Amino acid sequence: MTSDSLIDKADSYLQRLCIDIPSRRVGCAGNRAATDFFTHTVSSFGFGTESPEFDCMDWSQEGAHLTIDGASFEVFVSPYSLGCHVRAPLVVVSTVEELEEAEVSDKIVLLRGDIAKEQLMPKNFPFYNPDHHQRIIQLLETKNPQAIIAATSRDVVMVGSQYPFPLFEDGDFDIPSVYMTEEEGNRLAGHAGKEISLESRAHRIPATGCNVIARKGVDPKGRIVLFAHIDARISSPGAGDNASGVVALLLLAEMLLGYSGDLGIEIVALNGEDYYSNPGEQQYLALNAGKFDDILLGINLDDVAYVKGNVAYSLYDCPPQLAGTIRAIFSRYEDLVEGEAWYQGDHGLFLMNQRPTLAITSELVSELMAEITHTPKDTPETVDPARLVTVARALRDLLLHLDQQRL
Ligand SMILES: [Zn+2]
Repeated sequence: MTSDSLIDKADSYLQRLCIDIPSRRVGCAGNRAATDFFTHTVSSFGFGTESPEFDCMDWSQEGAHLTIDGASFEVFVSPYSLGCHVRAPLVVVSTVEELEEAEVSDKIVLLRGDIAKEQLMPKNFPFYNPDHHQRIIQLLETKNPQAIIAATSRDVVMVGSQYPFPLFEDGDFDIPSVYMTEEEGNRLAGHAGKEISLESRAHRIPATGCNVIARKGVDPKGRIVLFAHIDARISSPGAGDNASGVVALLLLAEMLLGYSGDLGIEIVALNGEDYYSNPGEQQYLALNAGKFDDILLGINLDDVAYVKGNVAYSLYDCPPQLAGTIRAIFSRYEDLVEGEAWYQGDHGLFLMNQRPTLAITSELVSELMAEITHTPKDTPETVDPARLVTVARALRDLLLHLDQQRL
C-alpha cells in the first residue's frame, strides 16, 4: 500500500471511530459498535479474535438545578452519580478536619478549597488509591449527607483540561453529587446555613462491554502483546485518546496480513482505561494470571499522534539487547523520538508483572493533557494520520525483526 492510501485509511478509521460513532464510553452502544468494528477489521486481516465480556454501567443525565431563595447556581452532574431531588440546609466544608467535625447528615454539603483540590480516585479503583482520598470518601459515607456539591478549580495532574472538574467520577459511590466552578462555589458559600434545593436528573444503566484480543503466530510461549484502549471519556470524541492508538493497531494488523512467523502477536483493544473501575484492564489481568511470563515485550499505545511535536516512545525494564534493537529500528523514522517515561497508562499492567515494556505516546503529551484530552476538543483534527502510519510501520519492522531473531 502506498503512503497516501495508508494515510487515507488512517483518516477513514479515525472518522469511523470518532464521528460515525459519537461516543465510545464503556457500556454505551457506540462502545459496542467500536469493539465490533475492531473485531471485524482485524479478522479481515487473518487474526483470530476473542471478545470476552464484562459487566459495567452506562449512565445518562439531563442536567441539574440548584436554587436558593429563587436565585440559581450553575452546576453539572458528576459522571456516574445517582440523581436526587432534595431540599436541605447548606453546610460548607474546606478541609478534611472540618469534615471530621461537621454535622452533615440530612444536609447538603459544599466541598471547596483544599478538600476539593484533587479529583478523588474511585473507591474501588484497583491500581492507584491514596489514603487521603479514601479517608474523604469514608467520612462522607459515614456521615451520609443528602447530596454533595463540589466547587473545583483545575487538577493539572489528573484532569488539567477540564474546568471545573468533577470531584467524583465513581459509579460505586452512592451519595448524589454535582460540581461547579470555584467562582460559583465562592458565591454559594455565602449562603451557608440556608435551605437550598438541588434537583439532579441522572440514571445508572446496567450494561456490558468487552475487550477484543486478536492473535497471530503459533508460539504460545513467546508473544508480543500490543495494547490500545478503545474506550473514550464521557463527552469526548476521544480521537487522540485513544482512537489514535487503536487506528495504529488496525494499520499494523493489515501490514501483518501475510505474517506467518512463529512469534506470537497479540493485538488487544482494552476497554476501560477512561472508565472509573478499569473493567477491561481487570479482566485482562485475570485472564492472564500466571501467563505474563510468556510476554517477551508489552507495548502500549495511547495518544500517539498529536498534530504538534513528534511521536515519543519510552522503554521500561527492557534488557540491553532488546532496548538496542528497538532504538535501532525506531531511529529509521525521523518523527519518532525517545521521550520521557510516563506511568498513567495501560502499560502499568506490564510493569506490575515485571515485563519488558515499550510505551508510545506524543512528545507534547503534557500540552495535550492540559488542553484537549477528555474534552469535546479531542477531535480527529488534533491527530496526524501520517504519524499513525509511522507508528504502524515502525512496529511492523520491530515485530518482523524480533520474529527473525528467534530463528
Ligand atoms: Zn488514554
